[in-house]
Amino acid sequence: MSSKWLSLEHALEKAISATRTIGETETIPLNSALGRITASAVSASISVPPWDNSAMDGFAVNTADEKNTPLLIQSTITAGMAANESLKSGHAIKIMTGAPVPAGADAVVMVENTTTEDNGVVINQWPSSGENIRKKEADIKIGQALVNQGVRLQPQHLMLLSSQGLATVEVFKQVKVGVVATGTELAQPGEPCLPTQIYESNRIGVSALLSELGVEIIDFGIVKDDEQSLTSLFKEASERVDVMVSSGGVSVGDADYVKDVIDTLGSIDFWKVAIKPGKPFALGQIANTLFCGLPGNPVSAFVTAKLLVTPLIRKMQGEQLIRKPLTVNAKITCDIKRRAGRRDFQRATMSYDDNFDLCVTPFRTQSSGVMTSITAANCLMIIHEDISHVEKGTTLPVIPFDLLSPEPDA
Ligand code: AMP
Ligand code: MG
Repeated sequence: MSSKWLSLEHALEKAISATRTIGETETIPLNSALGRITASAVSASISVPPWDNSAMDGFAVNTADEKNTPLLIQSTITAGMAANESLKSGHAIKIMTGAPVPAGADAVVMVENTTTEDNGVVINQWPSSGENIRKKEADIKIGQALVNQGVRLQPQHLMLLSSQGLATVEVFKQVKVGVVATGTELAQPGEPCLPTQIYESNRIGVSALLSELGVEIIDFGIVKDDEQSLTSLFKEASERVDVMVSSGGVSVGDADYVKDVIDTLGSIDFWKVAIKPGKPFALGQIANTLFCGLPGNPVSAFVTAKLLVTPLIRKMQGEQLIRKPLTVNAKITCDIKRRAGRRDFQRATMSYDDNFDLCVTPFRTQSSGVMTSITAANCLMIIHEDISHVEKGTTLPVIPFDLLSPEPDA
């Protein structure tokens, strides 16, 4: 067992290289594949569009035709019909969006640029050749790569696969993640709390955060700080889950048995990651199960789950491109003095000022015991480990919590 300071990057690198990718695959319906990782590449088996078709409701015309007289309306083609007849000279074929372009036509004029009269249609603005025609294969050719292996399926990927007539997709099997809270002082929410206890809060947050990755969560409850309970818990976990995430008991306190128990059952590396909050982090292995030991403080558990556990699980799920969390630049609204050495992920609020510049204000207290700092915040503001003084107005990177609703609640 080692105990040393590691930069976040170094810790991540070590943790990711210790993580295997789940090998088993399954074929599942597209409508339950959102967020799952493709186990094989998908290439096109049909071309899109399958034929030249109209991009507008209007009239199919031949731009070489006489421009000064009305065109006779030959017939109508709507989407779903075949274009059985060729366009005759001096004629137009009424055509709807998506309908096949008839032979003899080389453009579609939108209905808004025409006037229909008793004796035909007057083209007020002639299109150029090819205008408003979606050409066969312009989007997708047969054999073209559509989705690579190791891609997390987004709504748009599902649309693309569906457009190929696919109803299923081959993905990696769901990763099973066990979650447990360790601590004799912890009481189960919904049940009485002894005067010496506090309510447990890490499991629900860590489970929710990791659920966003589409894993299967297995709740192992609360376990007391004693070696026997921890031993049987971790033994069971090693038979049931791919990753076990615990919180608490990985510090240097008298009741912190988690590391020793895992060291006995398998192997464990204990790191002091140079981040704040979240210093202690344990990464271990029991049989085929990866073990992540998070600090007990709820704010630290939340931040380490986000920064350290999420990338591991993504690797395990088979995702190919594991990018760093998206950061945006914001101007800090106050001065900060702090001790350099650890990278700070301060809980903060970002908002626009009167000039529409993105600004960021750290929460008034940054103690890792203050849980309201994460609910009042809408982002983590990053201060690099080398910096001890930040002046008001300096631009800092921030990680937004939620890109869809960036405003905080309180
Ligand atoms: P530990 O890492 O076990 O030393 O715990 C650090 C602090 O976090 C202590 O004040 C614990 O009571 C608290 N704590 C540990 N686990 C949890 C939990 N699951 N929910 C709420 N607080 C916790
Ligand atoms: Mg504890």
